[in-house]
Amino acid sequence: MMKYIDLHIHSTVSDGSFTPTQIVERAARYELSAIAITDHDAVAAIDEAMPVAQKLGIEYIPGIEISTAWCEGRMHILGYFIDHHSPAIRALLDKLQQSRRDRIYQICRRLEELGYPVDPEEVFEIAGGASSVGRPHIAIAMERHGYVPNLQAAFDRYLAYGKPAYVPRWAPTPQEAIDTIHKSGGLASIAHCAVTEGCMENLDKIIAMGIDAIEVYYPFHKPHQEQLLKKIAEDHNLAITGGSDCHGIVRGEPLLGIFKVPYRVLESLKEKYASIKKQEVQI
Ligand code: AMP
Ligand code: ZN
Ligand code: FE
Ligand code: FE
Repeated sequence: MMKYIDLHIHSTVSDGSFTPTQIVERAARYELSAIAITDHDAVAAIDEAMPVAQKLGIEYIPGIEISTAWCEGRMHILGYFIDHHSPAIRALLDKLQQSRRDRIYQICRRLEELGYPVDPEEVFEIAGGASSVGRPHIAIAMERHGYVPNLQAAFDRYLAYGKPAYVPRWAPTPQEAIDTIHKSGGLASIAHCAVTEGCMENLDKIIAMGIDAIEVYYPFHKPHQEQLLKKIAEDHNLAITGGSDCHGIVRGEPLLGIFKVPYRVLESLKEKYASIKKQEVQI
């Protein structure tokens, strides 16, 4: 029987709608052999999901998806086999969460100037246990106050890029993200490159930064893009990764268990991991 995996999944710890436990249970129902939950800038899913995966006989790879600042846009770097309690990843995530909180105050100040006061403490309350407080939580507060008819209007009128209450957010560079993943004992893979603006033409630079793998299998990668990325990975002796980028029911039908990746992809990643660990021992 063919074995399948999914190495790119979001949970309620970031912006997905399934809890880490629900993700593992669904993966078991769909008979996936291995999964990695890769929340945006957050690792809290790991401690919840790992024991459930063990119980259900699913191999679990600790992962993350780090948003990085690249030119005008964003580039997403996936991390696998990370030690999520390592000081390096903790320091990066603390800095990210702090910058998110600072930004909430800045956005609320702008909204007040615009005549739509929102108390930052209310926003933090709405965010509750989420690891990452963000604009969606401000949008909820604005709707509650009757400033906007719905959440989308809050973005369209005030919060989206270029709108009057937009404030940029600090993000690490791709190099910082890759280095942090390495310091945490993990491997870094470049996410959905063929559908990220400015990624394909800069792939050489990212490879030079020490990326270990390229995400080849992705729902929005066309077959010719898959082929090209696979060839580039082979030419540079990089591993390949792949996954559904499932966000639960947030984006239509959940892709977890529907879009799946052959198990040999994980084997390529493990070979890369083993070869790096071997080099480290020799040094
Ligand atoms: P933040 O992390 O605070 O920058 O907020 C990012 C989140 O806000 C995204 O994950 C989306 O859920 C949401 N978002 C960003 N831009 C828009 C937009 N133009 N319309 C609706 N939602 C958006
Ligand atoms: Zn997301
Ligand atoms: Fe992404
Ligand atoms: Fe993602």
